[in-house]
Amino acid sequence: MIEVLSVASEAYPLIKTGGLADVAGALPGALAGHGVTMRTLLPGYPAVMNEAGGARVVGEFSDLFDGRARLLAGRFAGLDLIVLDAPHLYDRQGGPYAGQDGMDWPDNWKRFAALSWVAGRLALGLVDGYQPQVVHAHDWQAGLVPAYVKYGPSDRVKTVMTVHNLVFQGHFGSDVFARLDLPSHAFYEGIEYYGGVGYLKAGLASADALTTVSPTYAHEIRTPAFGAGLDGLLNARANVLHGITNGIDTEAWNPATDPALVQTYGPSTVHKRAANKAAVRERFGIDQSAGPLFSVVSRLTSQKGIDLIASNVDWLVSLGASLVVLGSGDAALEATLEAATIRHPGRVGMVKGYDESLSHLIQGGADAILIPSRFEPCGLTQLYGLRYGCVPVVSRVGGLADTVIDANEAAIGAGVATGFQFTAANADAFMQAIRRVVALHADRPAWLSLQKQGMKADVSWARSAKRYAELYKTLIARKQALA
Ligand code: ADP
Repeated sequence: MIEVLSVASEAYPLIKTGGLADVAGALPGALAGHGVTMRTLLPGYPAVMNEAGGARVVGEFSDLFDGRARLLAGRFAGLDLIVLDAPHLYDRQGGPYAGQDGMDWPDNWKRFAALSWVAGRLALGLVDGYQPQVVHAHDWQAGLVPAYVKYGPSDRVKTVMTVHNLVFQGHFGSDVFARLDLPSHAFYEGIEYYGGVGYLKAGLASADALTTVSPTYAHEIRTPAFGAGLDGLLNARANVLHGITNGIDTEAWNPATDPALVQTYGPSTVHKRAANKAAVRERFGIDQSAGPLFSVVSRLTSQKGIDLIASNVDWLVSLGASLVVLGSGDAALEATLEAATIRHPGRVGMVKGYDESLSHLIQGGADAILIPSRFEPCGLTQLYGLRYGCVPVVSRVGGLADTVIDANEAAIGAGVATGFQFTAANADAFMQAIRRVVALHADRPAWLSLQKQGMKADVSWARSAKRYAELYKTLIARKQALA
């Protein structure tokens, strides 16, 4: 068995703000069948500490970035966890990165330097006899981990840095560097970012292997348009950069058993979705009509391209389509969409906020899900859409490009189409795709085969877990070959 320590600032089901939590929560289980034992180091937020009742104390630090801290180990919520119990850093109400007022915690530099520093100690085998062979760091919050290993007393352990969204980089002032317990030459060897400190940059510069969550995004982030200022570094490290597409939890997202659905169904009973569609209509106050029922389940932000939908709602309705929106985010986008619900009663509906169960019902009932993102590292909603026969209509970027097969003539002819793609951030392309959806939706047998084909797609973790396991094995073999 290969021992891997995963270092993450969130892991489903304990603490989640985005896709990172799904990945960190799912990977250990998915890797178990591939000869990998994965333990996860998590900050001891209240939500995590509440679950850590019977944990063993495996380590203590008298002064970890200005306070006492302990390491607790145990199996909670289905995960093999090591929890960093540091009340001065994590015991507070609010989110993992920001307070209830939405402002980032001012000591985030310290909160995640501490997490990464402790991971560096674990990598050295200094805690409780535990010796991982690979340390896998996720996002900027764990970005310093590869640097602590590289500049520590031993770099025997191999490191993997995964980027879930390159836009979030963890930038802090240069004064922080002196507090990080790293040698001064490390600053200009990769940690410095425009005069300050960049945690994600540190990880990208120091790790033995870099991964991101889809092959297309791995390519895109090497360009100035998607590189968020790090494309130069990523190009320099292109030979160790890999794209591994995320999977989804196929048990929690199973239309045959999903308790959030009014009516469960499978690929051979897709017609039963009608009952869910009726429930979605009722929930959003949508009248019955012949055109397709489009849906949005998303953060309402410019990254997600929601402006493209907001500015074309009237046109969408004029085609005979309806639209339901579940989400919250940018106030101006929320207001535009709300105004559309008033202009088009019975055709456009919106529920503001986050509602896990309603998101399942929408996937089980709507005809199509719109995902017009400007960039999308992987994206999960199109994978749920595929599994639920809710046809994904996506921009051709990142993981959206890698997981949806456009229903062009050739793909329909070959029976392999699963959705619709269009050029990102382009209103004409968006509108052309919508016209194609409306036309195909009117051809019932063609639409049904599109839904069924999508439901056949493998959206599980099986393939991705195998690729992560292979990556770990390659790194370990390289280490042994060099020894
Ligand atoms: P991102 O992590 O960039 O927001 P992803 O597509 O990777 O985008 O993941 C979004 C996740 O959040 C999906 O599981 C999606 O179903 C869920 N989600 C987004 N908005 C809502 C909402 N308003 N209610 C319920 N679930 C939501």
